[in-house]
Amino acid sequence: MTMHILGRNAARRTELTISVITFDLDNTLWDVEPALLRAEEAQRQWLVANRPGAIETFGHEALFEFKKSVWKRHPQLVHNVTKMRLQTLHELLLKANYSEADARSGADEAFAVFLAERHKVVLYEEALSILETLARSYTLGALTNGNADIYKTDAAEYFDFAFLAEDIGSAKPHPDMFQAALNETGVRADQIIHVGDDPDHDVQGANAIGMRSVWVNLRGKAWPGGTRADEEIDDLQALPSAIARIAATP
Ligand SMILES: [Mg+2]
Repeated sequence: MTMHILGRNAARRTELTISVITFDLDNTLWDVEPALLRAEEAQRQWLVANRPGAIETFGHEALFEFKKSVWKRHPQLVHNVTKMRLQTLHELLLKANYSEADARSGADEAFAVFLAERHKVVLYEEALSILETLARSYTLGALTNGNADIYKTDAAEYFDFAFLAEDIGSAKPHPDMFQAALNETGVRADQIIHVGDDPDHDVQGANAIGMRSVWVNLRGKAWPGGTRADEEIDDLQALPSAIARIAATP
């Protein structure tokens, strides 16, 4: 009888402890590199066809140096990957002697081409079924520093909210990103588990605001130091049990 009562209390406590799971997106739910490479290539092709002379003159290294010089001159855009990319394209076109209007429209259109490809991410094979399972018990949210849109993926239906750093005005590990999830859900920080691949942006950021955390380490990296996550997984299949263990630990 005692066992029965203890069991019931434990179940109730579990329910009350964790109610929300927030996810990083890039390299947590999908490999971002293939989508980024395709997006860069589509953007390049659009520029070559529609604003000739702007990007062809740059080799890979020179283009990277040019981008870095834009980042350096616009540090305020560092948390806004969309604006930074638009600024870079705009300056690239002005440098190639396009008019202000053609540079502006070219930047907008080239970026639209980029973004359409950027959104064609392929979720890790096991991700969808895991999200489906978790969504039955938890509120799921997305917190990303990139410009991916979870609502443009097959996982859209499982997510109750999503915040992009460019909408919040600061990027992870800044507490504002995690605070946005707290404001949205109205729960305490210790009722949220944040799941992500970046030790600093995801794990340290979540830990600092008092959330629980799971480090998704699919590439077998060494932990770089700092407070570790509550759980570490090297395979997304291990996520539901890692979450169950955290939920069972007050
Ligand atoms: Mg990531």
